[in-house]
Amino acid sequence: MGKVGLKLAVGCAVAACVVASVMVGRRVRRKRAWRRVVKVLEELEEGCATPVARLRQVVDAMAVEMHAGLVSEGGSKLKMLLTFVHNLPSGSEEGTYYSLDLGGTNFRILRVQLGGQRSAIIGHDVDRQPIPQHLMTGTSEELFDFIASSLKDFVEREENVSEHSQSERRELGFTFSFPVKQTSSSSGILIKWTKGFVIEDMVGRDVSECLQQAISRNGLDMRVNALINDTVGTLALGHYHDEDTVAAVIIGTGTNACYLERADAIIKCQGLLTTPGDMVVNMEWGNFWSSHLPRTSYDIDLDAESPNPNDQGFEKMISGMYLGDIVRRVIIRMSEELDVFGPVSSKLHVPFILRTPLMAAMHEDDTPDLREVAQILRDTLEFPDIPQNVRKLVVRVCDVVTRRAARLAAAGIVGILKKIGRDGSGGIASGKNEGASRSKMRRTVVAVEGGLYTNYTLFREYLNEAMTQILGEEIAPSVIIKVMEDGSGIGAALLAASHSTSSVDTVQIL
Ligand code: ADP
Ligand code: MG
Repeated sequence: MGKVGLKLAVGCAVAACVVASVMVGRRVRRKRAWRRVVKVLEELEEGCATPVARLRQVVDAMAVEMHAGLVSEGGSKLKMLLTFVHNLPSGSEEGTYYSLDLGGTNFRILRVQLGGQRSAIIGHDVDRQPIPQHLMTGTSEELFDFIASSLKDFVEREENVSEHSQSERRELGFTFSFPVKQTSSSSGILIKWTKGFVIEDMVGRDVSECLQQAISRNGLDMRVNALINDTVGTLALGHYHDEDTVAAVIIGTGTNACYLERADAIIKCQGLLTTPGDMVVNMEWGNFWSSHLPRTSYDIDLDAESPNPNDQGFEKMISGMYLGDIVRRVIIRMSEELDVFGPVSSKLHVPFILRTPLMAAMHEDDTPDLREVAQILRDTLEFPDIPQNVRKLVVRVCDVVTRRAARLAAAGIVGILKKIGRDGSGGIASGKNEGASRSKMRRTVVAVEGGLYTNYTLFREYLNEAMTQILGEEIAPSVIIKVMEDGSGIGAALLAASHSTSSVDTVQIL
């Protein structure tokens, strides 16, 4: 080989070595970066861990906070609001009633026909529409005029089809699912907005009055005779179907719960309540907080960037409004470690772009190559076709976030049961006679409503599993979770009927 040939050979060898070492270097760097991404997942799992022992601490904290909120106004982050609802529907309600359900995402109008016998809802018609975004941050008049004119259209449509004898005035139950300080069972003052609504001129005003005025402005003859929270509506429908229903939980855009409390346990208004017996208490549990809640940096950032920082801490870990966004934040963190997601588009940085139903669809993707995950990431976040191992990683993230949410919701439910002595432990006041109370454990029904619980199978399964783990195999079968489809809306109509002057048949809850 001549000198030139030798130089060429050496040159080629050197070049090959350089290429090889660059490739090896790149592979090593990718491997290290991948390990860092996996570490992000592991840290998330650790931060979101909810072993049963921790869930039991949450149960205890919930029961203690409930008690504190009942002792004095402002005694707890749980507002424990009075509803003045003493009488839950008995099943004997009769007639046609309307209801409006203003939740978080959707707005529903219902017309419910009651047949006068338990579980005899002859029929109900629903008009469901999304709340236009601009009305969520406009003025109260704009919002209520929109509601009242939709209501008027609905009434006209319905009453054209089925003859309504208009000898009596139409009566309406209004489900308004935001924190309200009730002044009676049909009136109350808005304390604050949640779930992305910001209509400043409404805060401090009577919600029923705003609606009643808008109804009159729109020329409709209808009286608002029940103002309730969605939880109370769900409890009402639950009780209508099953008298053992003692609590109701909403797990939709937001989350909240209510339950039946002994009037004498509502210490903060002792002497003020004229009606003995029980009263439904609206917990506003979305604002529950405890140091036992497993909080991560993603939760802290989400809270800090929300319109209501330091508020609704429990809700921000559990409800449909937030779960997708927690996942989005974890993906941002992962994409900082490794370009596994390809050139990251600015879409990933748009808050709430990854909505919870999309997250659920990725979580529940059962195609062998996780095609749906890839498609959602491509369509929503403009990611290029990402590799399979990364798709799996995203599914894991969805799983961790949802599992924590569902298990915390379960702990909250058991917290309520503990407060009223229905968890088999003898209530918070006693730890004694455990064995005795276990054997006497009464059948207990919790009504549940909300799109997250009803549409997200894995969420539901995790919640049910955690209930059994916390309560134990012996007690768990006595606690039944019943889905109350459209409970918040139908329940409002039922309470409008219970409260109606024309209806005499109501029962006192004992
Ligand atoms: P609202 O809370 O507004 O009264 P819903 O009870 O219907 O309304 O709950 C709607 C919420 O439920 C949505 O905002 C979403 O977060 C969640 N949700 C709806 N469908 C699904 C789904 N398929 N998977 C997961 N979450 C869902
Ligand atoms: Mg709702």
